[in-house]
Amino acid sequence: MKRAIVTSRLALRMPSELATEQDVAIAQDLLDTLAAHANECVGLAANMVGIRKRVIAIDDNGAHVAMLNPEIIEKSGAYQTEEGCLSLPGRRATTRYQQIVVRWQDLGMAWHEQRFTGWTAQIIQHEVDHCNGILI
Ligand SMILES: [Zn+2]
Repeated sequence: MKRAIVTSRLALRMPSELATEQDVAIAQDLLDTLAAHANECVGLAANMVGIRKRVIAIDDNGAHVAMLNPEIIEKSGAYQTEEGCLSLPGRRATTRYQQIVVRWQDLGMAWHEQRFTGWTAQIIQHEVDHCNGILI
């Protein structure tokens, strides 16, 4: 189910809580909402649709992937860039990392650990920041 996008900075600055099996439906809603905004958006975090749980949906080279409890456990290759956000007007400068290693749970709650680089890595970093209440 597509959900409405939250734009309140106050709400978006609250860190999200760990996701459980009961939050798998939220992950599906995030995938639906990401698909609905695919022309303007490459990633979403659950708090952007009003659910304060650690769930994100991202575009990985054209494939939409949902991640529960994503955690960046390694990062290297810092660079400066500019990003926009569906919840915020305009674009802002931020520091990202070229390579990251992410641990997360899939929709069946199985754990994964994978290295991501470049654009996909940047999207994941932006959405994990949302889980921590950090805005660009
Ligand atoms: Zn954002």
